[in-house]
Amino acid sequence: MIAKELVIWYRQNKRELPFRLTKDPYSVWVSEIMAQQTRIDTMLPYYERWMKQFPDIRTCAESDENAILKAWEGLGYYRRVKMLWSGAKMIMSDFDGVFPSEYIDIKKIPGIGDYTAAAISSIAFDQPVAAVDGNVLRVISRVLMMDRDIAKDTTKKYVAELLNEWMVGSDPSDFTQGLMELGALICKVSTPDCTQCPIKQHCLSYNLGTQSEYPLKSTTKKPVLESYIVHIIIDEDRLLISSDWSDGLMEGYIRLPQVCSDSLFFDIEESLFSYKHVFSHKIWNLSVVKSRVHKNAKLPNYWRWISLTEVDSQPWISAHRKILVKFLKRSDLSSL
Ligand code: SF4
Repeated sequence: MIAKELVIWYRQNKRELPFRLTKDPYSVWVSEIMAQQTRIDTMLPYYERWMKQFPDIRTCAESDENAILKAWEGLGYYRRVKMLWSGAKMIMSDFDGVFPSEYIDIKKIPGIGDYTAAAISSIAFDQPVAAVDGNVLRVISRVLMMDRDIAKDTTKKYVAELLNEWMVGSDPSDFTQGLMELGALICKVSTPDCTQCPIKQHCLSYNLGTQSEYPLKSTTKKPVLESYIVHIIIDEDRLLISSDWSDGLMEGYIRLPQVCSDSLFFDIEESLFSYKHVFSHKIWNLSVVKSRVHKNAKLPNYWRWISLTEVDSQPWISAHRKILVKFLKRSDLSSL
């Protein structure tokens, strides 16, 4: 019964989104990867640009890394785009360029876990495989007043099995998207709009007024605070950049030289401004300075010069692109 009411509601109330106009698995895949940890209105322009630039698996697989990284710049969680690119190459080599239709094969693609494989299986291939993400866990926790920790894999498995049963005889694509849409638009984190909910008569939390008590989630770790000095070093028509990815963040995206303390390599000429960048698991407190390379310093290989004319076309980590933009405004320059 819940499935039927959910599907009817979804068909009448769904947002018209470009990736909902197609069942092409590549489009569904790109949209699902982009939507992870990212709001729909933020990812939409990226999605539309991506699909124009890389309209199919082959184009994506055969593009060079810089173009791929550049198209994702600013969207965050950069591991996603690398996996997407690897996945496209793997589909070309292992599946003759045809997106696999079986859940078990979809899960072999790099970067595709249980949730994304289930979303693609149900949305693109109409298979009754439940996709369980945070939105879905919240809805189900409230409907059932479920006393299980949603951070645990056992809970996700439990909910997936339950939904697989609810999907029987339903439209898997609209059921999956309906549940996602309900979580995004109605059963919101802090203010569920229960009066508009198509399944409220089945919802224990609504009937007992306990919506705010669900879902149950074990507390997450606080982000770690880290402080660095970021050096802007311009020498005539060149800017010093860094390809040091030893911290495991955003490999492939260039940065400004960023160091923990005073560096033997640089002489600070001017302290410019402070900048704070928040990741999900850490916060960078950055002191931005204008510097020059210390006389006779032999720079490590991961620091190199690029022409100022190349700066804008490179894929930058977001924090440092924002710092460069702020630096330009402050310097009253239109470009480097
Ligand atoms: S009735 Fe309210 S709490 Fe229950 S599923 Fe609907 S929006 Fe969520």
